[in-house]
Amino acid sequence: TFDNVEQAPPDAIFAVLNAFKADTDSRKINLSVGAYRTDEGTPWVLPTVAKVEGTLKNVNHEYLPIDGNPVYNAGMRDLALGKDSIAIKEERTCAVQMLSGTGALRIAAEFISKFHQSKTILVSTPTWGNHNAIFKRANLDILPYRYYKAETRGLDFEGMIADLEAAPEHSTVLLHACAHNPTGVDPTNEQWAQIAVVMKQKGHFPLFDCAYQGFMSGNLADDAFAIRYFVEQGFECLVCQSCSKNFGLYNERAGCLTAVLSTKEAAAAVLSQLKILVRSSYSNPPNHGAAIVANILSDASLYKDWEDDLNTMSGRILSMRQQLHDAIVAKGATQDWSHMLKQRGMFTFTGLTPAQVERLTSEFHVYLLKNGRINMCGVNSHNIDYLANAIVEVTK
Ligand code: PMP
Repeated sequence: TFDNVEQAPPDAIFAVLNAFKADTDSRKINLSVGAYRTDEGTPWVLPTVAKVEGTLKNVNHEYLPIDGNPVYNAGMRDLALGKDSIAIKEERTCAVQMLSGTGALRIAAEFISKFHQSKTILVSTPTWGNHNAIFKRANLDILPYRYYKAETRGLDFEGMIADLEAAPEHSTVLLHACAHNPTGVDPTNEQWAQIAVVMKQKGHFPLFDCAYQGFMSGNLADDAFAIRYFVEQGFECLVCQSCSKNFGLYNERAGCLTAVLSTKEAAAAVLSQLKILVRSSYSNPPNHGAAIVANILSDASLYKDWEDDLNTMSGRILSMRQQLHDAIVAKGATQDWSHMLKQRGMFTFTGLTPAQVERLTSEFHVYLLKNGRINMCGVNSHNIDYLANAIVEVTK
């Protein structure tokens, strides 16, 4: 029956990881993986997560409700919108536990496909590769909007605004809440305000992908600025949240879809429909990761400890940005590397050409994505000198 099924290509990111694993050179460096690493190059269990994990009580293996752990959902909603959000006060929000950020995007896409008047979704060029795949599977029509300007290695703000203006009215616009993946380029707060003006004029609907809150700057409110600003401006929106990075819970698949609607009745109706989408997709979510997060978010002292963990991670990334930048410059870089300091979050969009990337890998055993994206977490005090040399060599 399935004799004619064609072999699909491997996932680009996982393919780089496999090539890294197969390399036997001791100097090899993995800058492709989208996960935090310590200065020793190892994964990090957040101390607050480890502490809570040891105290989880009454754990049986009963089903969670379709929409997940209610304490978790309330905590995640507050995290995205801010506890004092007008939308929460007016009881016009709902939040549903999801299979991490990817699961939230998938259910959000299906919801939009089923219920929104427009099937058009605007997606930045470039964006996280999975966005396009997810939206395509939900039968949405993807329309790219300009975002990254190669000449400045920064934001193409005029291009973005022009494309939002030119798009059909009532389109959904996918916005990276902070730490844009793969570019590390975010609008300023003033630019967010202008984006909101255009989106309001056009009746566009914001779909936020929030995968790096707190992980980017260490400050949870700063990293949620765009979401909270849009809600203050009276927008309805969907927010896809991931606990992979900011809680280090990558394989626990803890995420959330928080929705802001215009009325309490709409919030109740949307919740009921989201539950139907979940029920027919995977019935109900897993417990463990969400239980850890629920404990942390509902306890003031643990919350503070977690913020310290966030500062540890974001602080190390910022320090690696500075140190790698300085080392490349000190070794006689022939081009400007200030974008390494300006871009934010886990990734630097280096501007390295595919040929330079190829040389880094084949000659220097440095593994990164073909588009030149590097994960700053792969940089550490042991490999930084070697890496800076390699980058200077291939860009001479
Ligand atoms: N959105 C973006 C922009 C991401 O970078 C990621 C993680 N790579 C995700 C969503 C989803 O990750 P997860 O499913 O692990 O939460």
